[in-house]
This record gives sequence, structure tokens and C-alpha cells, in this order.
Amino acid sequence: MEIIRAENLRHIYKTASGEKLALDDLNFSIDAGEFVAIIGTNGSGKSTLAKHFNALLKPTAGKIFVNELDTSDEKNIWAIRENVGMVFQNPDNEIVAAIVEDDIAFGLENLGIEPSEIRRRVDLALENVNMTPYKNFSPSKLSGGQKQRIAIAGVIAMQTKIIVFDEPTAMLDPQGRREVLSTIKKLHVQGLTIILITHFMEEAATADKIFLMERGKILKVGTPREIFSNVKEIKRLGLDVPVATELSARLKIPKTILTAEELIAEI
Ligand code: ADP
Ligand code: MG
Repeated sequence: MEIIRAENLRHIYKTASGEKLALDDLNFSIDAGEFVAIIGTNGSGKSTLAKHFNALLKPTAGKIFVNELDTSDEKNIWAIRENVGMVFQNPDNEIVAAIVEDDIAFGLENLGIEPSEIRRRVDLALENVNMTPYKNFSPSKLSGGQKQRIAIAGVIAMQTKIIVFDEPTAMLDPQGRREVLSTIKKLHVQGLTIILITHFMEEAATADKIFLMERGKILKVGTPREIFSNVKEIKRLGLDVPVATELSARLKIPKTILTAEELIAEI
């Protein structure tokens, strides 16, 4: 079942130096429960698209619907934001409280939810991101990956059906990246719709579907295997492919390989 649909979605930024076409008449849909990765070089329009999913930006032309709600209609904004949570690159910009559990409760308190229900949701969210032992910690004492998981817990506690991640692992070390990716995958298994913008092709390779963006357009939509089948084309666009894909291409393995496990099995 379709949960997001874009129809000729266009976004133009107006600046002092002129106009910038950032999204060029996009048409696509995303099904409920799907895990979509969005890849593309810097400036291709990924973050602009992310901000349309929860009406942080309004289309210059065309439309985008979330749960059949038109994002350009003011009266839909709160209902849309109840459906779509956002996680950005830098958790330091998202963490507001001095204690982990207060930070997760923050959004709920603002909605006027009862204390017992807040307690229940905060505990569940902490559990979900494997951070229960840290509930009384100061976020400043946590690693980047832990902070990002607290930011994700804050979104989980809001019980949105869709979570959009805009390069959530870009500032993390490899360990932090693994923690955050496994949290994202767990949420997908639980039935949430996941949209993950990433520069890490190993992360994109775990999605159900990839949107490949270039200069404000979605150049290609396909499974990771379809998208990474043409290594030359991806490289020509200035992007990488997963390391195992690269190696298998050099070894002239005719199949498209996505992971180290697949490569080992093939050899
Ligand atoms: P990405 O996330 O893929 O790097 P963005 O969506 O941030 O791409 O940017 C798409 C294009 O829009 C780029 O050319 C960028 O310079 C431009 N852009 C992004 N934000 C603004 C803004 N606030 N004002 C003007 N131009 C912008
Ligand atoms: Mg961006």
C-alpha cells in the first residue's frame, strides 16, 4: 500500500543571486513498510527532498502526499508530522536535555501526553535502541553513535510510521555507523517505513529499493542489485559502489555482488 506519492514535485530556491532548481519534477511512490535508500552526489537534491516528506519545505510546483495528505495544505501539517519523523546528520543539534531520558521525553511533553504514558514510551524507545543502561547519563558523555541512537529514540517515542534519516551516520566512526544502521534495520523489521539518505553504499545496499538522484532528478529506481549492476555508470556519476561489488567487478565475476559474504561464497 502506497504511503508517499510525489506528482511532478518541483522545488526552486530563490536567493539573492537567482533561482536554483533543486527538485526537477519528481514522480515516485513509496509503499508502507518499505526501506528506501536515496543516494546521489552533493547538491543532487537529497536533503531538499527529505524536507518535503514532513512539510519542512513546500513544493514550488507539483505535489507530495503523505498518507494521502497534501503537504502544501497548511491544515495537514500536524497530521503529517505525526506520521513522519526526521533524523539528521548531527545528533548534537537534536539533543536538547541534560539527561538522556528527559531528552527522549521532550517531544512528548510538548504534546501534553500523560506522564505514565510518557514513561512507558521512553522506556520502550530506550529498549529499542539498546540504550536502557544509559537512561540517566548526560548525553555529553556518550559516543556519536550512542547520541544518534538517543535522537532516534526521541523519534521512536513519537510513534511516527515513517522515519526519514538524512545522512545519520556521516559524522560517526565505523562502530557508531554499525550501531545506527542496525537500529534502522530493526525499525524496518518492526514495520516502519524507512527513508535513508546516505553516502555509504554498504548501507544503501541493505535497502529494499534505491533512488539514485542526480541534479534534482531521480535518475534511476531499482533494487540495490539493479542499481549497482553497472559499476562504471555509478562511478561516472561520481559515486562509489560497495567494496565487495567493486572487487567482484575487478575479478570479472559476472554476477552483481553486494556483500563480502556473497563474494566469499562466489569465490
Ligand atoms: P544534497 O542533500 O543532495 O547535497 P541539497 O538538497 O542540499 O542536496 O541541495 C540541492 C541544491 O539546492 C544544491 O545546488 C544546493 O546548493 C541548493 N540549495 C540547498 N539548500 C538551499 C538553500 N537554502 N538556498 C538556496 N539553495 C539551496
Ligand atoms: Mg544533504
